[in-house]
Amino acid sequence: MVNASETDNGKRLIARLRADYSQFKFVPGTQEHWSPRNSTITYCESEPAEEFRYGLLHELAHALLGHDTYSSDFELLKLEVEAWDLAAKIGKKYGIKLDNDHIQDCLDTYRDWLHRRSKCPACGMHVLQKDSNSYQCFNCGTAWQVSSRRFARAYRRKL
Ligand SMILES: [Zn+2]
Ligand SMILES: [Zn+2]
Repeated sequence: MVNASETDNGKRLIARLRADYSQFKFVPGTQEHWSPRNSTITYCESEPAEEFRYGLLHELAHALLGHDTYSSDFELLKLEVEAWDLAAKIGKKYGIKLDNDHIQDCLDTYRDWLHRRSKCPACGMHVLQKDSNSYQCFNCGTAWQVSSRRFARAYRRKL
């Protein structure tokens, strides 16, 4: 449950971030994300207070790191790790200590996703990515495409 004082804290944090990072726009939405196209950080107020703060700092970190596109699933995981590192540093400035378990849970989600995407649908071998949108199995030769949207859930179809 989100109580009134936590909502106030959240609003205060947004106000401070807006002032300190005026180069970015902060807008409420249903799914938190960073959009490099219009320099906008979308935050999700309906989340529990802690997650709301962590998510906000995480997206701000993506923004400050200038994260835009990525060329492979593995690179995306690397960008996620970088963003959490910086989010933890920014958090210190605002008296917010990020919970390491939460960070690891989030990264595990990406690791699982990477693991699913890299698995050959024909023989089950885990292989390296061929390019940003496809994998090819060195074992049986099967090729499959993956969607490249940043927040897409694992999605595969055979070529
Ligand atoms: Zn992220
Ligand atoms: Zn295979």
